[in-house]
Amino acid sequence: MSFTVRCVDCGYESPFFSTSTQCPRCSNQWREVDYDYDSIAQTLPAQLPLRPFDLWRYRELLPVRSPNPALSLGEGGTPLIRAVNLGMMLGNPNIYIKDERQGPTNSFKDRQAAITITALKEAGITELVAASTGNVAIAYSAYAARAGIKLWAFVTSLVPAVKMREIALYGSQVIKVTASYDQAKRLATEFALQRGLYYDMGARTITSIEAMKTLAFEVSEQLTALHGPLLAGGKSYWRTPDWYVQAISGGMGPLGVVKGFNELKRIGLVNHIPALAPIQAEGCAPMVTSWKKGLETAEVVLAPRTRIETLATGDPGRAYKFLRQHVNETHGVFESVSDEEAYRAMHVLAKMEGVSAEPASAASFAGLFKLIRAGIIKPHETVIVNCTGHTMPTEPYALGDNWTRNVEIPQQTQEKPQDGLLAALNNIAPDRFPRVVIVEDSPESRRLVRRILQSQGDFEIFEAGNGRQGLDLIQRELPNLVILDLMMPELDGFAVLDQLKARPETANIPVIVASAKELTPEEKSRLTGQIQALMQKGDFLNDEFLEEVRALLK
Ligand SMILES: *Cc1c(COP(=O)(O)O)cnc(C)c1O
Ligand SMILES: [Zn+2]
Repeated sequence: MSFTVRCVDCGYESPFFSTSTQCPRCSNQWREVDYDYDSIAQTLPAQLPLRPFDLWRYRELLPVRSPNPALSLGEGGTPLIRAVNLGMMLGNPNIYIKDERQGPTNSFKDRQAAITITALKEAGITELVAASTGNVAIAYSAYAARAGIKLWAFVTSLVPAVKMREIALYGSQVIKVTASYDQAKRLATEFALQRGLYYDMGARTITSIEAMKTLAFEVSEQLTALHGPLLAGGKSYWRTPDWYVQAISGGMGPLGVVKGFNELKRIGLVNHIPALAPIQAEGCAPMVTSWKKGLETAEVVLAPRTRIETLATGDPGRAYKFLRQHVNETHGVFESVSDEEAYRAMHVLAKMEGVSAEPASAASFAGLFKLIRAGIIKPHETVIVNCTGHTMPTEPYALGDNWTRNVEIPQQTQEKPQDGLLAALNNIAPDRFPRVVIVEDSPESRRLVRRILQSQGDFEIFEAGNGRQGLDLIQRELPNLVILDLMMPELDGFAVLDQLKARPETANIPVIVASAKELTPEEKSRLTGQIQALMQKGDFLNDEFLEEVRALLK
């Protein structure tokens, strides 16, 4: 599959790497992916009927070299539900709910997580830092768990505790930041920078925007299945809605969706792009107020005043410029709703349509009600409302204590905004973690061991793919623990062990041998007294092994 990344400022084109975060020529972080639309137009339509209705059916238009079925949780392909009762109430029979609650972790962030984590795994990333108002961290955590990637999730203290517990349950480290979401993002950026870890840049992350496109693709296919193709000028097109309504925080959803419709148009599958109606919470509506004032750059909301934390981006940055342009070009509108309006809409939606949505999603519906009442959305128009997410409970007792690290950042001052951040960084993680060297020739087994260790606490993990490298690594790092495979090319585990024991500086490093095969009695006796534990590969997840690891690292 061929795709390139184009800088929206200088137009420079480069190959796509999920780990590259800016334009190599001008350092701009806003870039777009281009595909070979002409050839996709030739091949994709014939392929679609053969593929399951999930997000990967559009793989030619996704920035992943090879889809990884092993990571899939059944993302995408959510139902489109006709809001019959709301339609009667509002006098508009064509309102459809795109039910993103039915994604694997119950929000539309699953699309973003599926594509981003697949691309990061493809690039060999093993740790990832992300700031989140809750749902991104939950979705990333689930996929990261499957991929053997560790997530450091920076969430604000206003994120509901049930969501934080959900993140922790998947094995991610929750870092609870008592500050605004924008400050939490800055802290996460610094943390990633300091540790040299990959940082997720929200709406600037190419894979995220690309993932959100699939909403446009699905909705068009679903409307077409319901109402048949649209015939115009002797040609047959997929149907598109007149409006796409979504509650926004950073605006990634509509940015992706509009790109999706534009691509469908470019391929010749649709002839019309819907009007966008991004909805914000009144207490944090920088894009809405700036748009209504006719500003080209958003006025930042420093202290958001909404209880709907999911929508608490106070500083949208350049996302506003792009979204403003799309809203204007599609003859859409920005609108805001109060928290109370969102809560009321939440009740209406649940009681009239049987759809229980979180307050952020309910804000989309409150926005819909407002726009229909104002006559902006007309009675005959077809409207898609993205029901972005469901709430989710993880019982408090399932996790025990100490599953957050708490950071307080003092009130931000204009002069030295970095001071509080840097002090807070030191509270997130101690400087030195116990060090573990994994010597194992199979990359998948190394990743499994890494993932198991990461689920048990914080370790600095080093990996070697054969005995020779392993020995060098151990001599250099003098780790607290070695996990050693026996059957390896170059130098096998027995030889590594002999050499470790022969040198005073490595003789006392504890070793756990992990072996895929049954050992013969002679082999077992060779290991006696030399190692701390012997694990057959299937045993990795048993408590004994984990107890052993914890005890050795105390
Ligand atoms: C992230 C999120 C939003 C806001 O989406 P953006 O397109 O990123 O602004 C809305 N609702 C829910 C449930 C979300 O998780
Ligand atoms: Zn550039």
